[in-house]
Amino acid sequence: MADELHDECGVFGIFGDSQAALKSYWGTFSLQHRGQESAGLAVLHKEEITVHKGMGLVTEALKVETESQRLGFAAMGHVRYSTTGESSIVNAQPLLMKTRFGLLALGQNGNLVNGANLRQQLEKEGAIFQGTTDSEVLAHLIARSGRDSFYEALKESLAKLLGGFAFTVLTQDALYGARDPRGIRPLALGRTEEGAYVLASESCAFDAIRAHYVREIEPGELITIRESHIESDRFVSFETGRALCSFEMIYFARPDSRMEGQSTHMVRRRLGEILAKEAPVDADVVIGVPDSSTPAAMGYAKARNLPFDMGLVKNRYVARTFITPNQALREAGVQLKLSAVKEVVDGKRIVLVDDSLVRGTTSRHLIQILRHAGAKEVHMRIASPPYTDPCYYGIDTSRATELAARNMNVEQIRKAVGADSLAYLSLGGLKAGLSQGGWCMACFGAGYPVPLQDETSTPLSVTKGGN
Ligand code: SF4
Repeated sequence: MADELHDECGVFGIFGDSQAALKSYWGTFSLQHRGQESAGLAVLHKEEITVHKGMGLVTEALKVETESQRLGFAAMGHVRYSTTGESSIVNAQPLLMKTRFGLLALGQNGNLVNGANLRQQLEKEGAIFQGTTDSEVLAHLIARSGRDSFYEALKESLAKLLGGFAFTVLTQDALYGARDPRGIRPLALGRTEEGAYVLASESCAFDAIRAHYVREIEPGELITIRESHIESDRFVSFETGRALCSFEMIYFARPDSRMEGQSTHMVRRRLGEILAKEAPVDADVVIGVPDSSTPAAMGYAKARNLPFDMGLVKNRYVARTFITPNQALREAGVQLKLSAVKEVVDGKRIVLVDDSLVRGTTSRHLIQILRHAGAKEVHMRIASPPYTDPCYYGIDTSRATELAARNMNVEQIRKAVGADSLAYLSLGGLKAGLSQGGWCMACFGAGYPVPLQDETSTPLSVTKGGN
């Protein structure tokens, strides 16, 4: 549950399929967990690109009614949660721009650490921005590039961006996908049974349209999809280590997604097992905070040979009421969102496993709920290390003052949340659980893989690379 941390966005794109728009709709729908504030579709039909977008969930924002919305030959979709820019329709994506190269639809996941600097520079040169998102920066860079071809303009513009990002760009004759040089934000390539190529933030979107996973888009890679063939290129010449956001594995990504060749569900179970070895406790039952902490709780229970049970249930229908990035609403929402199963917790010593503890407000409410339902002891176990540093790459924890582990030690946090004991997974335990690939662990104090640039992004530590 992670104190309601939110990823910035999810992107999807497909090229060369007679039902591209419909498949984009389903693909985007399966990425709903990555953003609930707005949703949009861009559809290429008979050489015209049309964009449909609205506020709210995919099913509220989009209607697949007209022929062009249902069919199309290529399409892309986007879900958004704002971490930069206001939550308003003008910032909903895909953005549609008319440039000297033709029509251009653009969707982004992530955050630029030099977005504000680039925007100021572009404004000085006369660029007029419609909204406040970083995504518009790329569109203006492309439009103002001195290059003769769209492809060269896109490549040159991408090379100016710093941060964690994945872009999908739809033109009148191709779909492009690009991933930041460290691979902080995810982007994967899939293929439908009919042979069309697909791009998505997570592989669960491929399953939704019966496409299969082909591979990850490599850090710094620019992929071009035309008809049924692809071309791969790099928009930066240098090679750096990979630094995929470890929080994708801990919390954000759906449990049925695969990243870096690993099942997120199985990684979460493994983290729970390691946590049990690092921080054992005598108890009667292990419960997880639904839904994202369930695999870690199962892993903890298995490693300790304790029963795992459903001690907390989630009311899934209130989720949308509390998507506004506002602390008061977040706190008020917990009690409506989660409740205890008295028969599971009454009179028991409980291990409560959560995937992360960011602000601590959710944990405090959950422990109160469990005690109110009769829990004798509540031992909190966190399946990730203390979250000490804000994220600047597309996750909504940019205020250091809100981070519990930045301002308190473990004992102080234990007292603040009201647990009988509290323990976190170690950084070494997290690395062991992730097992392969290179990871960003900056929010756990391991150093920022991409130095921060904007004046609004005060650097905390820029010395170490990804892990
Ligand atoms: S700082 Fe944390 S949340 Fe942000 S990209 Fe790195 S691992 Fe992910």
